[in-house]
Amino acid sequence: MDGQELMQKSQSNICSTYTRYNLAITRGSGCYLWGQDGREYLDLVAGIAVCNLGHCPPDLSRILHEQAQQLVHVSNLYYTEPQVRLAESLTQVSFADKAFFCNSGAEANEAAIKLARKYSRERYGSGRYTIITMKDSFHGRTLATLSATGQEKVQIGFEPLVEGFRYVEFNRPESVADAIDETTCAVLVEPIQGEGGVRVPDPDYLAGLRQLCTKHDLLLIYDEIQVGMGRTGKLFAHQHEGVAPDVMTLAKALANGIPIGTMLATNQAAEAFSPGSHATTFGGTPLVTAVANEVLHQISDDSFLDGVRGVGEYFRGQLQALQEKYAFISEVRGRGLILGMELDFPGSEIVLKCQEHGVLINCTAEKVLRFLPPLIVTQKEVDRLVETLDIIFAAV
Ligand SMILES: *Cc1c(COP(=O)(O)O)cnc(C)c1O
Repeated sequence: MDGQELMQKSQSNICSTYTRYNLAITRGSGCYLWGQDGREYLDLVAGIAVCNLGHCPPDLSRILHEQAQQLVHVSNLYYTEPQVRLAESLTQVSFADKAFFCNSGAEANEAAIKLARKYSRERYGSGRYTIITMKDSFHGRTLATLSATGQEKVQIGFEPLVEGFRYVEFNRPESVADAIDETTCAVLVEPIQGEGGVRVPDPDYLAGLRQLCTKHDLLLIYDEIQVGMGRTGKLFAHQHEGVAPDVMTLAKALANGIPIGTMLATNQAAEAFSPGSHATTFGGTPLVTAVANEVLHQISDDSFLDGVRGVGEYFRGQLQALQEKYAFISEVRGRGLILGMELDFPGSEIVLKCQEHGVLINCTAEKVLRFLPPLIVTQKEVDRLVETLDIIFAAV
């Protein structure tokens, strides 16, 4: 099929839940993608913070291939070594004692929401089920996670929402304090808001939430689905502040594009789940966990993370130089290799122009250009983006 035919058949055969760009992609390698027409693109989207080690890294493809020939799936009625190894590694590199495996970010958050309710019910009885979440947050598209999401646009049309969520201002511990009442069981927060426009809270924000949660015995849940797995230059974003949660969710980059989600928890929190509490058929298959083991091994390496911080600082500096040149750039923000550039007009046209120049970027919260390159991106590739933006901005 040529690109045109693909697009037509997509429109006639696939639910139209996405606005897609006019681009069909056939192949990827490292930070580059190739279109149906053979054209090369520099990819600074990475499948929305998923392909952190780039596209089709040969060592991951080899592991995937070998595991596919050995064992793909047996269900969680049995033990498999890749799954156990992944759980052991995740608990070694994090605050957590236990892992639950599933297949996506929304599912990981569903598990966290269920765990928080059960934890609180077992200790305090019914009536203590409200989870405080943040305005402009994003936690997924299932009914419970869109109810947890503090954005009306993902909720409209799907009412009645799941009960028991209360939204407060992000980056304001005092607004969480005001919202806590006898029904509260947990606080759910992204350490950096991704979809909300790359919003980095003040350095003492998580510590403020930690204090409140400990005082009231609420579970502090971090959604690190987008900002975890090395994206910010630490393995997990909250490690910049050194404030541990009780529960954390991961997904996107954990297996570099093979679908996986996980909920990590302390023993104290995890004890609320017992056999039969929660389950999913595909959770933690040998296929996906074999790949995730290698991803975690590579990303948790200190020199790899140093590299992310280094190129991230360079990237940010180059974006700030553009900001000095163009008055319509109102802010540059982010950490490591999740960077946002807020414009004072909608960013969609800029995204399209970049694509014409062979560079893929993304736009979120309408006016925020978001850069989520593979973490293996080099300064040279950053320069190419910045030169492209400079040409486009000069013509605005
Ligand atoms: C992408 C994302 C989700 C949802 O993950 P899915 O795999 O799409 O269900 C949840 N939270 C955050 C912060 C995300 O970025």
